[in-house]
Amino acid sequence: MTSSDELHKRRGAAVARGVGSTVSSYVDRAGGGTITDVDGREWIDFAAGIAVANVGNAAPKVVEAVRAQVERFTHTCFMVAPYESYVAVCEQLNALTPGDFEKRSALFNSGAEAVENAVKIARHATGRPAVVVFDHAYHGRTNLTMALTAKNMPYKHRFGPFAGEIYRLPMSYPLRDGGLSGAEAAARAVEMIEKQVGAENVAALLIEPIQGEGGFVVPAEGFLPALREWATSTGVVFVADEIQTGFCRTGDWFACQHEGVEPDLITLAKGIAGGLPLAAVTGRAELMDAVHVGGLGGTYGGNPIACAAALAAIETMHELDLAAAARRIERVMGDRLRAIAARDPRVAEVRGRGAMLAMELVRPGTLTPDPAATAAVSAACHAAGLLTLTCGTYGNVLRFLPPLVISDDELARGLDILDAAFG
Ligand SMILES: *Cc1c(COP(=O)(O)O)cnc(C)c1O
Repeated sequence: MTSSDELHKRRGAAVARGVGSTVSSYVDRAGGGTITDVDGREWIDFAAGIAVANVGNAAPKVVEAVRAQVERFTHTCFMVAPYESYVAVCEQLNALTPGDFEKRSALFNSGAEAVENAVKIARHATGRPAVVVFDHAYHGRTNLTMALTAKNMPYKHRFGPFAGEIYRLPMSYPLRDGGLSGAEAAARAVEMIEKQVGAENVAALLIEPIQGEGGFVVPAEGFLPALREWATSTGVVFVADEIQTGFCRTGDWFACQHEGVEPDLITLAKGIAGGLPLAAVTGRAELMDAVHVGGLGGTYGGNPIACAAALAAIETMHELDLAAAARRIERVMGDRLRAIAARDPRVAEVRGRGAMLAMELVRPGTLTPDPAATAAVSAACHAAGLLTLTCGTYGNVLRFLPPLVISDDELARGLDILDAAFG
């Protein structure tokens, strides 16, 4: 097999430099909680391809469903000649997502495309232009979603001009906002919208219930319900971006359920289809159906292979009770992370929910972010065979997103490596 070193050389001459990779080892195969590279080295996987392989890589049911579908037909385009699996995925999403009301779904290819379409639907249904988003938000890399995303480097730098009518509000970030309660942080945000934009001009309020790329920021209890209530009272469409938090990742099907929040629209992608590219917008029938026939779609959206994979992945989540698996990972991993935090003053906070946990690193005794220490711990993990990711506006958050099917032994080995990486 071609070595990682050789592949990395070829890559330099063939692949655009702007596409980065966390590690320079090339994958041969992956499954459960591990990845084996082409050099024969086994990695413990605390990334799951960025919260995608929730059911694990090459999950048996997904493999079987994909194989069967690819032999029947690969693409007819749902907008040309429709097929059952697209309808079945929509039925599943309508049933699984929070809210006991009539729903509809539409399928797309990527998270960014789902977010773009949620904005299209909210604007069309309300006839209003503005979209409000939050500090530290991440919603994608297309032109509209870059505008919705907060962080300049690496996502937006020199890629403008950006789409208009996007307004950014302060997030509830308990470690860094002086400990505002959820209600106080929501009141601060609402006042800004009402003074600077005017509720009657706002089509959608778009928020990640737990922020992903922005640093696994968990808003204070009550923040999301207060915003939900305000949106209801002002006719603003409440859109939850559950692209990273969805599909059992946080110990429930969706992160909104933790506080009983029922979004009007939900954007979904990442964990939806066991690694195949699929995304969705699911929400209230009267909003989704407001758009004229032909107004939504795309050539590949809801591709039959991806739909087959999604149905198999969702079945696997039910069968293996992966929400419970995420809660078990939270207990085991949470204990180990808090033990590290107790001895290492660089760890300002351990936070997250389910199998979406993080540590924020600072200069001891301050809240000054320490991205260098974060990178050093991460590099030590990589050198020892643990695949970890970093995130955060300040690049100072270590985040952990293992596949929910990771074994107890793999989880323990990964945590041992992490523990040693802190020294
Ligand atoms: C990853 C992500 C996106 C973008 O999804 P892509 O499939 O990369 O376009 C949007 N929102 C959130 C919260 C994400 O984590």
